[in-house]
Amino acid sequence: MFATLSDRLADTFKNLRGKGRLSEADIDATAREIRIALLEADVALPVVKEFVGAVKERARGEEVSQALNPAQQVVKIVNEELVAILGGETRRLRYAKSGPTVIMLAGLQGAGKTTLAAKLALWLKEQGRSPMLVAADLQRPNAVNQLQVNGERVGVTVFAPEPGNGVGDPVRVARDAVEEAKRTLHDTVIVDTAGRLGVDAELMQQAADIRDAVQPDEVLFVVDAMIGQDAVVTAQAFLDGVGYDGVVLTKLDGDARGGAALSIASITGKPVMFASNGEKMTDFDLFHPDRMASRILD
Ligand code: GDP
Repeated sequence: MFATLSDRLADTFKNLRGKGRLSEADIDATAREIRIALLEADVALPVVKEFVGAVKERARGEEVSQALNPAQQVVKIVNEELVAILGGETRRLRYAKSGPTVIMLAGLQGAGKTTLAAKLALWLKEQGRSPMLVAADLQRPNAVNQLQVNGERVGVTVFAPEPGNGVGDPVRVARDAVEEAKRTLHDTVIVDTAGRLGVDAELMQQAADIRDAVQPDEVLFVVDAMIGQDAVVTAQAFLDGVGYDGVVLTKLDGDARGGAALSIASITGKPVMFASNGEKMTDFDLFHPDRMASRILD
């Protein structure tokens, strides 16, 4: 991931090495390379423009440091700007002060929500919590079953609609699940919701209805890192239609350049909180903006 960006920046900085001070021409040359690299990494155009503008501004205003050569100085600026856009510090989950913490997942079909739900449940279990999974994706025929299978794999209870009781009504399933969690003393409820392949008004409304019914402590937007430029449109549509507190990037094990992370964080202002990077239940971790930025620059 980000190979092109890293290589390009490395080349640019190689050309800058040995110069005592960044001239305006140096800054322009660097900015050009960063712009091309970000576009190749599938970062959305408005985000690229803003990012490059910010880097140029800082590079110009920066005193020439005694400790760093100009190349190192630009790397430092680019790194700091990347970290800042990616959310700064890792944003941790906020747990409810009393009663079960409700985490709702939203995103397009195929984004990796159902897989992520189980991964998150396992991760929470390892943190000493007692999670419960809720199958409120009643749109995709196999989603309930898939969640049950994954729940079994990670040893977490799955709340699913029983025949004749809430079938076809995801809002009711989600509401019942929270009540069940209270009764059974599960401290975290993870609600998997339905998505379609494209943004869809009806399902967006369904997600909003589930949100209103269970008042989640956290709504997480789950997005496939491989969708590149489309990420921005989808992220904005879910922000307008459902609203969310944080982002989970999936399929970071693929060859996505990671532009989606930068674009979504920049356009929505919402932090990327978790990263999913494989099909195994343990391929999941907190998202670390600084590590991602270093990875971009290494
Ligand atoms: P949903 O429709 O959003 O619930 O998506 P699923 O959880 O069913 O995932 C869609 C496909 O992506 C499945 O084949 C998953 O195995 C796969 N998948 C999910 N997360 C990851 C990941 O982090 N890496 C890879 N390589 N595949 C993933």
